[in-house]
Parts: sequence; structure tokens; C-alpha cells
Amino acid sequence: MKIALDVDGVIADVIQSWLNYNNSIRQKITKREISDWDFWKKFKINRYDFYAELSSCWKDWSSIPPTEENLSITTKSLSELGQVDIVTARERSTDSFVKNWLSHYNISYDNYVSVIDGPMKSDLDYDIFIDDSPLNALKIIQQKKKVILYSQPWNQYILEDQIYRVSSLSEAIKQINLI
Ligand SMILES: [Mg+2]
Repeated sequence: MKIALDVDGVIADVIQSWLNYNNSIRQKITKREISDWDFWKKFKINRYDFYAELSSCWKDWSSIPPTEENLSITTKSLSELGQVDIVTARERSTDSFVKNWLSHYNISYDNYVSVIDGPMKSDLDYDIFIDDSPLNALKIIQQKKKVILYSQPWNQYILEDQIYRVSSLSEAIKQINLI
């Protein structure tokens, strides 16, 4: 079994770093208010500024918290189910920071795969994707592949039966065993 494990919003809580930055320069936003993938529109934040700021957050990778504790143990358990590749959509310049972060938190994975655009992931040859993006999740099920949606405020509106929602990585492991 080949599993694609996402980084931002699934194991790395980069939006928390971005919120810290945003809240120091603009109107304050809470994580719960990020109820859409393109929430920046609602707050009149320029799309390019938002993505550039996210990349900047990665430059300061050591301040990005993990989404949950014990990721070293849970990603090791996940690896016992098959090949686990990190599959992440990002600006190329941030790859080295992400790799530092993965190593710092002792994340178990086989290959590191970086793509330019999130929905491109669905074209890749994986049996199961673990992702938080509502756009990626819908595209993946269109391609008749399986997706486990890591629950976040920005994907709550996704209710499709074929999408398995989980609140933690250990719950994802349980779900993979049931699929
Ligand atoms: Mg993500």
C-alpha cells in the first residue's frame, strides 16, 4: 500500500505560525475563523501576500509547531502499513526547511515528493492520501482514489461519504486498517 502524507495542516501547524504573524500586523484572526480554504478573501488579504507569508513562516521552520504530540511514534506506526511518502505542495525554496522540520520531529517516511500545486497530488500513484485540503480531497475522490481528511476548521463543509474524516493521525491509522 502506498500512502501520501501531507505536511501543512496535517503534521505541521504552519497556519498557527502564520496567525501569529498576521495578528501582529493586521486585524486579528482566530484559527476557528479560517472556515474556508480561501479564507484570505473574506479578510481582504491578497492571495500572493498570503502564500508568500506562508513560505516565510517556513524559513523560520523551528518555530512551526506540530499539529499533535507524538508524531514520531504515530508516523512510525503508519510506516508499518506500507510505503509512506511525504507529498507536499509548496514553493520549491521551502523544501529544505520542511526537510529540517521533518528530521527535527523524527517523522518516519520513505520519499519526499514536492509538487507545485495541491490538486496535482491526485494524479500521483498512491492508494491513500492523508490531507487537509478540501480541494485536494474532492479531486482525489474524483480520480477514484481514497482520501483521509485531517479535520481542520477550513474543511468542515466537506461531507462526502467517500471522504474519511479523522481528528488525529492515530485515528487515520485505524481508518486505513478498516478501508
Ligand atoms: Mg495541507
